[in-house]
Order: sequence, then C-alpha cells, then structure tokens
Amino acid sequence: MSDGIGMMKLIEVIKKHTLSIEYCGRCECGCNKYNLITDDGLVYPPVHEESILNLKPDLLEVAE
Ligand SMILES: [Zn+2]
Repeated sequence: MSDGIGMMKLIEVIKKHTLSIEYCGRCECGCNKYNLITDDGLVYPPVHEESILNLKPDLLEVAE
C-alpha cells in the first residue's frame, strides 16, 4: 500500500475513527479510492476500496 500514513495508523483510523467515506475517483492502479470522514477532524489521504473492504466493509455499503 502506498498511502502516505503508516499501515498501523491507517488500520486504526479506518476501524475506529471513520464515520463515513466519500468516493474520490480512481487511482492510477485502477482501484476506486475514498476519502475518510473521521471523528478526529484530521484529513487523511484517500485509501483504496480494497483497504476499506478488508478493514470495515460496512462503510462501503453506506457510501453506495
Ligand atoms: Zn492504487
């Protein structure tokens, strides 16, 4: 994964601090990417759909 924050931090943010997600277009690799809407007020780089599917798939159901 090439997201700009550490993997452990990203896992924690997605699992514990993400309230919802917002579609933000396609990555160069062809995956959908999403912005994280979090409860800590910080802005994180967009993450791949696959990461969300692995960590907290219910976020994707809400987004669609
Ligand atoms: Zn990608």
